[in-house]
Amino acid sequence: MSPNVSAVIVAGGAGRRMGTPKQFLPLGGKPLVQWSLEAFAGVAQVKQIVLVVPPKDFKSARALARLDGRIQLARSGATRMESVRRGVRAASPLADVIAVHDGARPLVASRTILECLRQARRHGAALPAVPAKDTLKRVRSARRAVWVEETPPRSQFWQAQTPQCYRREVLLEALRKFPADAEATDESQLVEKLGRRVRIVKAEETNIKVTTPADLAAAEAYLGRARPTNHSAGFGFDIHRLAKGRRLILGGVLIPHPKGLVGHSDGDVVLHACCDAVLGGCGLGDIGKYFPSRERRWKDVSSLKIAGKVMRLLKFAGAVLNHLDATVVAQEPRLSGRCGAIRAALASAFGLAPARVNFKAKTHEGLGEVGRGEAISCYAVASLSLPQ
Ligand code: MG
Repeated sequence: MSPNVSAVIVAGGAGRRMGTPKQFLPLGGKPLVQWSLEAFAGVAQVKQIVLVVPPKDFKSARALARLDGRIQLARSGATRMESVRRGVRAASPLADVIAVHDGARPLVASRTILECLRQARRHGAALPAVPAKDTLKRVRSARRAVWVEETPPRSQFWQAQTPQCYRREVLLEALRKFPADAEATDESQLVEKLGRRVRIVKAEETNIKVTTPADLAAAEAYLGRARPTNHSAGFGFDIHRLAKGRRLILGGVLIPHPKGLVGHSDGDVVLHACCDAVLGGCGLGDIGKYFPSRERRWKDVSSLKIAGKVMRLLKFAGAVLNHLDATVVAQEPRLSGRCGAIRAALASAFGLAPARVNFKAKTHEGLGEVGRGEAISCYAVASLSLPQ
């Protein structure tokens, strides 16, 4: 049987600790619960996602359901366990495994989802957890005071997270056998009562449940660390004269031609335009600032060295280069047959996968100095991610 998972995402909370229902609060620019939906939608074996929400949230939930054809909605109940029951009732009978996830755990890693599904298939039930970090106290409340009763060994305690995953028949049996247990804070307790073993999957500390405003701030901080997504773009342009007796080097590739580009360095307009695009995206000026033509040490230097230094400047700025697109304009020589080689050379010079580089060549329709074959020019655009 091919893997067929139904995910039940419980987002029925009234938000008592947050002051407002938390599932639609914005996190990183989208509703909190959308992160969980996207995490499960990214797993191929998930064939159905049941989003359990209060009826008053149906309108917002319907907008989210349009994101992916696998999402359907179910009404939440008065308690978490009742919401889980309703979600499981809506789960497909074709599912071999059912994953129950808190809609308020937006940062669950796909690694954790996949491992919990795998272990649930093997053992019947599995849940993600992290070892308890704080020393735990068993307490006794007496009137208005709370007293320490004893200190159990911390190593015996792990903090349970979600998705809690079960073979479908195991979860259905637990829910059927203990219909009145509304107090259980997770379904795993019911499965344990069946006498079944529940496998623990060591998970990430970042898979937090967002319950208080402080949790929301922590989730924002984790997200910011995970993806520095200040998008940026840079533009570059360069032109050099052609003259006899010079080597023609474009994008670091030697092109056989009776003329080459005149410049203080090797005159590689393609690398110069690309370097300016990268520096521009970082807000670092242009290559003239770092490689002044009055300095002898840059005389006739390979522009690949300049590109190397530009990449060090980019790394120092904490930026990441995502994509590079360049257009060289040359009347002669015809460069269309050279585009693949130049693209590969640019990918190597800027540390990018070839799929993240584009390179094309055009003529200038015989117009102007480039059209008369007196010069070659190049335009380049770079897209980058900057640290926040
Ligand atoms: Mg130049």
